[in-house]
Amino acid sequence: MSTELVNVADIFGENVFNDTVMQERLPKKIYKNLKKTIEEGKELDLETADVIAHEMKEWAIEKGATHYTHWFQPLTGVTAEKHDSFISAPLPSGKVLMSFSGKELIKGEPDASSFPSGGLRATFEARGYTAWDCTSPAFVRKDAAGATLCIPTAFCSYKGEALDQKTPLLRSMEAVGAQSLRLLRLFGNTTSKKVTPSVGPEQEYFLVDAEKFKQRKDLIYTGRTLFGAMPPKGQELDDHYFGTIRQRIAAFMKDVNEELWKVGVSSKTQHNEVAPAQHELAPIYAEANIAVDHNHLVMQTLKRVASQHGMKCLLHEKPFAGVNGSGKHNNWSLTTDDGINMLEPGKTPHENTQFLLVLTCILKAVNRHADLLRESAADPGNDHRLGANEAPPAIISVFLGEQLEDVLEQLISTGEATHSLKGGKLETGVKTLPDLAKDATDRNRTSPFAFTGNKFEFRMVGSRDSVAAPNVVINTIVAEAFAEACGVLEKADDFDMAVHDLIKEYAIENQKIVFNGDGYSEAWVEEAKRRGLPNITSMVEAIPAMTTDKAVELFEKFNVFTKAELESRAEIQYESYAKAINIEARTMIDMASKQIIPAIMRYTKTLADTVISVREAGADTTVQSELLTEVSNLLVETKNALNVLIQVTDTAAEKEEGEVQANYYHSDVVPAMDNLRAPVDQLEMIVDKDVWPMPSYGDLIFEV
Ligand code: ADP
Ligand code: MG
Repeated sequence: MSTELVNVADIFGENVFNDTVMQERLPKKIYKNLKKTIEEGKELDLETADVIAHEMKEWAIEKGATHYTHWFQPLTGVTAEKHDSFISAPLPSGKVLMSFSGKELIKGEPDASSFPSGGLRATFEARGYTAWDCTSPAFVRKDAAGATLCIPTAFCSYKGEALDQKTPLLRSMEAVGAQSLRLLRLFGNTTSKKVTPSVGPEQEYFLVDAEKFKQRKDLIYTGRTLFGAMPPKGQELDDHYFGTIRQRIAAFMKDVNEELWKVGVSSKTQHNEVAPAQHELAPIYAEANIAVDHNHLVMQTLKRVASQHGMKCLLHEKPFAGVNGSGKHNNWSLTTDDGINMLEPGKTPHENTQFLLVLTCILKAVNRHADLLRESAADPGNDHRLGANEAPPAIISVFLGEQLEDVLEQLISTGEATHSLKGGKLETGVKTLPDLAKDATDRNRTSPFAFTGNKFEFRMVGSRDSVAAPNVVINTIVAEAFAEACGVLEKADDFDMAVHDLIKEYAIENQKIVFNGDGYSEAWVEEAKRRGLPNITSMVEAIPAMTTDKAVELFEKFNVFTKAELESRAEIQYESYAKAINIEARTMIDMASKQIIPAIMRYTKTLADTVISVREAGADTTVQSELLTEVSNLLVETKNALNVLIQVTDTAAEKEEGEVQANYYHSDVVPAMDNLRAPVDQLEMIVDKDVWPMPSYGDLIFEV
């Protein structure tokens, strides 16, 4: 922990093998080859790779690195790495050489069989390949293990099936990039060479004291509290105390920022005023694959730095029932290599037409594939969050803001938008779509897919999840909508007329996905049902969306997933759901049997002893007896619920793995967990605090 002040410009990217470093260190020809590979997506030849590997190694060793790793994102939800030393076999002189070849740089061979493959492994060889994603720069990470050269990598099976999050992401980026360019060309753009999705994921998280964390088995094993009653509001929140917390958090944030800046992540940590324990970190947006890599670095750094400060960082979507959960807002737009944001409303009617087409294509994409988007945010933790009167509802809808919605309505009713609302006042006389001031789009916090001025913000994503999956979906569904629009427009005799008609058609057909009201309200659930929008309230119900004919056709058309890859991913989703609930159920059983029930039994004994001595003293025992009865009754309820949970958890283990088992966990084990929690939480409210075997919510949230 340092209190020194640092100059951001000095440290930013100091541990990144970035463009500046490459330009400095690589021979001109090699640098040019690499740039070509990066820009045009060509394969890197071995000769070039050898030179780059050598320079990368020299640079990393100067930074103190002894090992390198292909840093990749298998389907376990976390990143994986296999560390190899630079040290080669000892020379006759007894010395060692530090070596790293081009082959080692562009290809590694971790054993694929140790990572989930959802059945792909059974049909194909167990060998897996990792390949450098040279569009995401390598970096040196410094931690307790020393300094390691990390090479961002894609991970595939021997036959090329994607076994990770990154491969489909890169494929989807290519798809949406190509279709975007096609669309731009139709509008007369001849200068842009490449379009890339830009992503800025905002990360929410909780910080709790490490000592208190260690006293809760549920936090240790599952990342969330499985028992716990809400604290009385405002507890212990005097200003002085709050001030001390802030100092501790501020020191943490300073270190997080510095660590991230060094590896090239432009982070801005923020204090969240809602509860002292919850915070947010937003990076400056980057190309989708880099943003995904950076978000993994953010999550790892938050955890590591928290530990160094005697805290634990909770990334779970819902660490505390009844308290606001954590998500990840995925900000998304399309940017050309010459700096045009395709989601920026234009200044001229011509630009506006292009913008309106892009916008209505996105409406169409989201409306058609709402189920896929919902699935991309499915995660066992998010089941507690989506639709739970806080974070966005489980229903996908699009928020456009008053101005844009008004424009769409005009298009639909008159076929032409001739004025737009500005600050509530109607401005007329400007053709098509004048001046959509960014500030005029008010912030609807309840919408899952909101237009925020020049980007869309997908807010369903869970705080723990990789943002790869949601971006794979957004990129691909938008690629499809663009492709269809281009298909029509390329054949049109009168382009202006055709665009006009298409925008109108898309606006009419997809109007039902637009919703600007309160997404948390009961009325919206009803209204959405009336509109025929899917309301998918759980992960197990979301998974089938991945393998529908519609999904297979979409992903195969754009070479993002094969049917086999989709099926394997659905299988992995079911498995990971079952595993997560199984761990939670077993942790509850353990805590209830070994901690909670014994503590309550001791407490009832104390109460009973008190009743006897008070009676002996000749005093009234009404209160003591009442409390004893109340606690004893809840204890009976607890024990019965525990028995049921044990029984259903055992039954679950015997079910056929995959869909059947996951569904059983959802339909039988989860309710049994809730039924055990209810009496225990009631007990926590009436039992002497000293008797309770673990820190309470209040202790965890307000005493960071
Ligand atoms: P908001 O107030 O809407 O949350 P911010 O300016 O705080 O907006 O940005 C939130 C996140 O969105 C940041 O990570 C930011 O880098 C990202 N962002 C901003 N503009 C874009 C864009 N055009 N495309 C993708 N992400 C963006
Ligand atoms: Mg935001």
